Amino acid sequence: MADARNSDAIVHNVRAVLDNIRQAALRAGRRPESVRLIAATKTVSPDSVLSAIAAGVRILGESRLQEALPKIEAIGAHEGLEWHFIGRLQRRKAKTVVGRFQLIHSVDSLDLAEEIDRRAAEAGIVQAVLVQVNIGDEATKGGLAPAAVAEAVAAIKDLPNVSVRGLMAVPPLSTDPEAARPYFRRLRELALSLLPQGLQELSMGMSQDYAFAVEEGATMVRVGTAIFGARHG
Ligand SMILES: *Cc1c(COP(=O)(O)O)cnc(C)c1O
Repeated sequence: MADARNSDAIVHNVRAVLDNIRQAALRAGRRPESVRLIAATKTVSPDSVLSAIAAGVRILGESRLQEALPKIEAIGAHEGLEWHFIGRLQRRKAKTVVGRFQLIHSVDSLDLAEEIDRRAAEAGIVQAVLVQVNIGDEATKGGLAPAAVAEAVAAIKDLPNVSVRGLMAVPPLSTDPEAARPYFRRLRELALSLLPQGLQELSMGMSQDYAFAVEEGATMVRVGTAIFGARHG
């Protein structure tokens, strides 16, 4: 993986990631356009983000709110650009996130969804969200337990100013990229079991395993390191 400290490397990396996504989709008999790339921009400078935009990236995923706000400001408006919030979201920060991000990937409780609903109503908008699933049932990880997802989604569906679009997960960390595959499959099966409720989006797969995620049905992959190089801090 290239160390992307300059614009050329970032452009090169974006092309390679898009190509890998396309190949993985085709291997799985899926339309490449059914998968969207989200560039994960935590610790990445605005200049590097601009290079990714120049290379064709249209969705930026931020996981740290205090870092995201000045970055959104610095990047400014670009045709078709979306910001997604992909990190853990505290209830008291919902107010700041609602309306600033087109999609919140990390709704992990009904309580948080209700707060988002309240803030979205105040802003006069409907906020699109994904429900985050703790697909590996890990004690340290955010997200709802798989067994709790159906009930939570049903309740969130009833909130007038929240639109739940799908599920998101971060599988257990492993040195073997393919180890995530069964978790991706499990998330897809969970989403399929909820399909009558209209869930379509599956946000899963990061730098080391996004190709497997696409093979298993991801509609959004969140890729940082493979685009921008290793993070420092
Ligand atoms: C940082 C981050 C990513 C990207 O991770 P990489 O391994 O650098 O691709 C994806 N999802 C979330 C929630 C993140 O915080």
